[in-house]
Amino acid sequence: MPDFDLVIRHGTIATASDVFSGDVGITGGQVVALGRGLGAGARELDATGKLVLPGGIDSHTHIEEPRGGPTVNADSFASGSASAAVGGTTTVIGFARQERGGSIAQGVAEHMARAQQSRIDYGFHMILTDPTPEILAEELPKLVAEGHRSFKIFLTYAGARVTDGQALEVMAAARRLGALVCIHAEHHELIEFHTRALLAAGFTRPKHHAWAKPMVVERECVHRVCAMAEALDVPIQVFHVSGGESAEEIERAQQRGLKVWGETCTQYLVLTADDLDRPGFEGAKYVCSPAPRSRADQAALWEMIRRGVIGNVTSDHAPSRYEGPDGKTAVGLDAPFTQIPNGVPGLAVRMPILFSEGVAKGRIDLPTFVAITATNAAKLFGLHPRKGSIALGCDADIAIWDPAKRVTITQALVQDANDHTPYEGFEVTGWPETTLVRGIAVVQDGRVVGAAGHGRFLPRGPYDLIKPRGVFPGYFNPVDGVAV
Ligand code: MN
Ligand code: MN
Repeated sequence: MPDFDLVIRHGTIATASDVFSGDVGITGGQVVALGRGLGAGARELDATGKLVLPGGIDSHTHIEEPRGGPTVNADSFASGSASAAVGGTTTVIGFARQERGGSIAQGVAEHMARAQQSRIDYGFHMILTDPTPEILAEELPKLVAEGHRSFKIFLTYAGARVTDGQALEVMAAARRLGALVCIHAEHHELIEFHTRALLAAGFTRPKHHAWAKPMVVERECVHRVCAMAEALDVPIQVFHVSGGESAEEIERAQQRGLKVWGETCTQYLVLTADDLDRPGFEGAKYVCSPAPRSRADQAALWEMIRRGVIGNVTSDHAPSRYEGPDGKTAVGLDAPFTQIPNGVPGLAVRMPILFSEGVAKGRIDLPTFVAITATNAAKLFGLHPRKGSIALGCDADIAIWDPAKRVTITQALVQDANDHTPYEGFEVTGWPETTLVRGIAVVQDGRVVGAAGHGRFLPRGPYDLIKPRGVFPGYFNPVDGVAV
């Protein structure tokens, strides 16, 4: 009679705080023992020479998300979750979207149905594009109670953006309900002004996407949303901080004691604006927002990761095919940059690129890698301690890595449903070979073996980290309408 369902033996186990060698005993999908010389498992995996790491949590992913216009999201939940697991990720947080004039409850219900095919565990941020008093007062409390405990708002994009006034209403609702607001922060009118001027001047190439949104567009808006969060005493996470100046705004807010968290994405650590200027129309593959910046911005972001200012690195996986009537080239190879769908894929490569560029190249240590790819997101989004670590009682979401394996990234390797990866040919050291979700292999030796539908929805209850501080900059709490 074996002692465990599964034992992973002789690995180097790392968490966000510790690195130690030993065995992991798994029963019923949970970690039930850590030690040396553990008893027998019904199955055993030899991790000699390997790293045993918490499965990644990618808290910013667009999978099977409907879009307006001719372009489509290339992935289904079955393909997107497969690709995530190939890269060592075991939980994704995606987006359920409210259409203008529509219901967020309906958006959530439709997205829940799509996510049934996920191979890995999942939750959603709720995108509010039309936060009417009725939506905020009637739909949101029920949805938050069902475990959808984060909102997402855009301050740019014509079809999705909210005004500053609406953003404040969403923040106030989040404070009342105990939810976290995540924000796409770019100055909408400034982008529009640049764009009109660029088109008038004939600057329409993919590279001019970056010209339409220089860093000041983001830096100003990051500052603005931090000020709004300060005035309402509401915790926020700023999405996809793309360079040094924006990260400095996050740091200033944190130094004032605010609950402001900053996220960056793989692409801002390895791509630059020069990639938008690749020959022909290839630059379209790199069109995403904010736009990739400079080498100096990459260095600044790594420094902000080391200082803990940026604590979460996601993929912002947003796959558009390159070819075909629904892809990046749908409007033609001379399409103006305004008609190229935004977004890059990156579910599979997020952790390997961060491991290689971060740990293998000596920019960060292994516990920091675990923190920025799994533990911090688990804490920030109310999934900890069930997710994000290797500890007694947590879900056995584990990736077994060969830290020395040299891999050249190709589209075939990442196994999503897109037709290209912007990282084609990128060389990394270190790769996850086996990925377990609740003790079940979803990827084994690089092959996807996990069933569509193995993933489970992760309801998120109240948690302390995102409680308001109870500190207002003035004499009045404008959310509750009381003096302070
Ligand atoms: Mn965004
Ligand atoms: Mn996004």
